Amino acid sequence: MIYKRFDGIKLSRLGMGNMRLPVKDDIEGKPIDYDKAQEIIDYAMAHGVNYYDTAYVYHSGESEAFLGAALKKYPRESYYIATKFNLAANPDYRAVFEEQLSRLQTNHIDFYLLHAIMDKNYQSYFDSGCIAYFEEQQRLGRIRYLGFSSHASPNVLDRFAGIRNWDFAQLQINYFDWIFDTSAKEYEVLRKHNIPIMVMEPVRGGRLASLSPAAEETLRAAHPDWSMASWAFRWLMRLPQILVILSGMSNMEQIIDNIRTFESEGALNDGEAEKLVKAAEIFKKHIQVPCTSCRYCCDDCPARINIPAVLGVYNTYKLDGRFALKGLKNIESDGQPSDCIACGACCPHCPQNIDITGIMTELKELTRE
Ligand code: SF4
Ligand code: SF4
Repeated sequence: MIYKRFDGIKLSRLGMGNMRLPVKDDIEGKPIDYDKAQEIIDYAMAHGVNYYDTAYVYHSGESEAFLGAALKKYPRESYYIATKFNLAANPDYRAVFEEQLSRLQTNHIDFYLLHAIMDKNYQSYFDSGCIAYFEEQQRLGRIRYLGFSSHASPNVLDRFAGIRNWDFAQLQINYFDWIFDTSAKEYEVLRKHNIPIMVMEPVRGGRLASLSPAAEETLRAAHPDWSMASWAFRWLMRLPQILVILSGMSNMEQIIDNIRTFESEGALNDGEAEKLVKAAEIFKKHIQVPCTSCRYCCDDCPARINIPAVLGVYNTYKLDGRFALKGLKNIESDGQPSDCIACGACCPHCPQNIDITGIMTELKELTRE
């Protein structure tokens, strides 16, 4: 395992995320499968992972209790626990903090974070009084390092990062969001404030663990023995402000592969990074329909479907998975994909040659009750 120094301690570069632990019968929403999850934790401990990240709300509150039980057999000084206060889940920060210590069977949290700072909630964190309370807990030695995790825009992140001397912060960074979203700007904000970064979603919720065949081919030609996840981690190793890269590992196969990646320093060189950017571009084209919202297709649709809006949701679904289909309910449209009669009247109007009928049919199937 490779490590990075931080304030006199040594943190493993790979951190164990406890948001996607194996669950009973492999059915989402079911309780954690303690035996399978313990096996992952034991493998992580045996291979030098010493950073374990959880949160009050993960697995409906069960993740912290699991982690407390799973780590109990190891000396407390052999690992670091990170957990988070989520204002929306329970605003009573005093009660939450005590409950977390009890769930985790410990008298202190090593890395404590305000959870999921966003543009719409950052003011509530300021106003709640929780920051002063957690600062007091830090003075008392019950919190070692105080930070926050963020999904905020770069401007709000800049403001939040500057309100006090945060010890660290957690950001969603991966090569895909770096190229096509705002990760690079957020990274620069934290670099400006000199705040060390823990990374979440390094493989974008698993989406970057397998790319399109053409995208994978270019990467496999360069390194046949590297997994797609390994490429994603090695790209992150290029960024000096990053301390720990968290991976929410759900099975043994993933942790074995990840441990292999983090066995020794292996950041991508410039040529490899360029290859990865090209693969990301190929992958993006594969997963996204190139709708320009010209609306030429809309007038002849007998189901009065807002086709470009539906295609926007479809693109998100392709990237983020089925959960994103809930977005169909939020679009302004008289008709839904389920109303499509596959008449094909839309397709001849599309200058991008998008198979609108085919996509509507696919969505109809996916959203069937
Ligand atoms: S195929 Fe579906 S989306 Fe296209 S015009 Fe007909 S009803 Fe509308
Ligand atoms: S015609 Fe094609 S590009 Fe234009 S809005 Fe419809 S689907 Fe999108």
